[in-house]
Amino acid sequence: MKLIILGTGNAMVTHCYNTCFALQQDEEFLLVDAGGGNGILRQMEQAKLSFSHLHHLFLTHAHTDHLLGVVWVVRAVAETINKGKYEGELTVWCHDVSLNIVEPLCRALLPGKLGKHIGTRIHFVEIRPGDKLQCLGMDLTVFDIFSTKAKQYGFRAVLPDGQVLVCLGDEPCHPDCQDLARGCDWLLTEAFCLYDDRDIFRPYEKHHSTAKDGAALAQELGAKHLVLYHTEDKTIATRKARYTAEAQSVYAGAVFVPDDLDTIEL
Ligand SMILES: [Zn+2]
Repeated sequence: MKLIILGTGNAMVTHCYNTCFALQQDEEFLLVDAGGGNGILRQMEQAKLSFSHLHHLFLTHAHTDHLLGVVWVVRAVAETINKGKYEGELTVWCHDVSLNIVEPLCRALLPGKLGKHIGTRIHFVEIRPGDKLQCLGMDLTVFDIFSTKAKQYGFRAVLPDGQVLVCLGDEPCHPDCQDLARGCDWLLTEAFCLYDDRDIFRPYEKHHSTAKDGAALAQELGAKHLVLYHTEDKTIATRKARYTAEAQSVYAGAVFVPDDLDTIEL
């Protein structure tokens, strides 16, 4: 299974795309969030991900930088259906708050020849903490990240080979979620900026964390691999090297600070 990082930035970036990724097994993939707009089309094209092979999308929360790209994904899938190049159905998993925004938004914005597939071939399905979801030979368990800003869900995925991957969304890990991530093989967590740059970017005021914080968490939880994303983009030229070094100063496992379109073999 491959982890294809489609975007690595926080909400307001202009030098990379907003954080979202695909978990790909053979040609099929699960999309997790879709970034903030039409850029998802370019990212998927560059990553050679075809809408014909997208049947599951997990939406973490209803912020612009995660949700608005879903409108474009739904549009693209609907167009693929109309071209006769899409088999089966698209399921968009999301919580009630997201569902009550994204489904009406898609229905309102898409013309009838595309919107007609919502409810027949394209389904928005409400998920709740503790729900078990299956796709691509993975078992996903949904959990609430207990966000203080907007209701947000993450997931713990058992991959086909038994490895465990945990997606914590785009906020620091709440203490009540730590047991879900303990001992995992892959920990995906946000790092708004470097700890060294905290006075420049002020992550704590925005309820975000730093590369060092994410790495300290991974060390404490015994995660084997750490993926840091959802960052600022002002230091993007040096991001991989500097974030990796800072994370390695407190964490003994393997650190990944991907650029957009990097692929990680799980
Ligand atoms: Zn975000």
